[in-house]
Amino acid sequence: MGESSARGVTHHPGGNGRGRPARPGADASLARLITELQGRGLRVEVPLESRQGGAGPADAGMLWIDGFAATVPTGAEYARTSPYVLRAEDDGWGIYAGGERLASAQPFGRPRFYDLTTSGGVPYWQIALLHLDSLASTVIQTCAYWGNSDQCTFCGIGVTLANGRTIAKKTPEMLAEVAVAAKELDGAVDATLTTGTTATPDKGALYVARCAAAVHEASGLPVEVQFEPPRDLAVIEQVADLGVSSVGIHVETFDPQVLARVAPAKARTGIEAYFRAWERAVAAFGADQVSTYVILGMGEDPDLIVEGCRRAIDMGVYPFVVPLRPTVGSLMEHLTAPSPDYCETIYRRVVPYLAARGLGARGVAAGCARCQACSAMSLLEGSTDADGRTHLPLVSNR
Ligand code: SF4
Repeated sequence: MGESSARGVTHHPGGNGRGRPARPGADASLARLITELQGRGLRVEVPLESRQGGAGPADAGMLWIDGFAATVPTGAEYARTSPYVLRAEDDGWGIYAGGERLASAQPFGRPRFYDLTTSGGVPYWQIALLHLDSLASTVIQTCAYWGNSDQCTFCGIGVTLANGRTIAKKTPEMLAEVAVAAKELDGAVDATLTTGTTATPDKGALYVARCAAAVHEASGLPVEVQFEPPRDLAVIEQVADLGVSSVGIHVETFDPQVLARVAPAKARTGIEAYFRAWERAVAAFGADQVSTYVILGMGEDPDLIVEGCRRAIDMGVYPFVVPLRPTVGSLMEHLTAPSPDYCETIYRRVVPYLAARGLGARGVAAGCARCQACSAMSLLEGSTDADGRTHLPLVSNR
């Protein structure tokens, strides 16, 4: 899996999808606020662009909080009772709780390129979407595991296809055309291309890489591609040869029992096979350019998560640790996001270890780990000692 696809297209006239606002320095309190929002959700008094499905853990409203990109649950049931609310102000927006203003906010508005269509009549927004400043697409919107006993329980890849918000297969030519428009009209800074897994030995890696090559050649944007470990690991070098900048090979969790429950096909591949694929990928793409999603809140043993992240980091792999976003239409739609304290604890055990080894979000060229909107972990990078020791949440000591 990977990140991607499909959000609503409600337009807020004051928002814009054109470029990242000025970013003041992040601090631990902003990391705490975004962790809280990603755990408890955000009530909205203004319409907000949001993802409503797609591969991987989806369902999120998109906005800038104090200048930092963030995706937060807004459509889930539990978000309706969140203590946090996004409120319009005389001149902008703010995040409030109990009447207190906590941060400034800027809702992400409808990108301009969504108004365009290809010469064949396909609306651009059915081909790729803008996630804040990253163009994102699920190039093959079907998965060999969807609808059978192998379906990943957190995934919503079939939801957006079923409701007509996307097309099943995007061509390299279509994606290249959309990427040029997204860069020129809306300030996209990179592209994130994922795919459902195909029943071929390469698991879909070569097709998504060909799409990436077309996007990069036409637009100049750095591109991340995401795929499962191919049967023949030489495919990874072929992907690198196509001019792809970064790669996501997503193990989802380092707890084998949880993996067997939430992603049976990935469990059959085995966690060790991910480490072997990452080793080849780091050799081909370089340290910092290989990442994996690590989803919190699926019943995992936290020590296995931290241990797995540290082993990945030792190889040069960036573990992008995110809270579960239960997606409507997925097999986990009835769940809630994990607690903010739990997520912060894991971030604080992983981020100093990253820093001590010289890895960080700043070094990632493209994709989810570059964007960072789905996690608060990178906001802690500047506030932790680069000594690799374990830090615990400060707020929970109160
Ligand atoms: S079901 Fe398929 S597309 Fe969805 S996360 Fe699993 S492998 Fe990826």
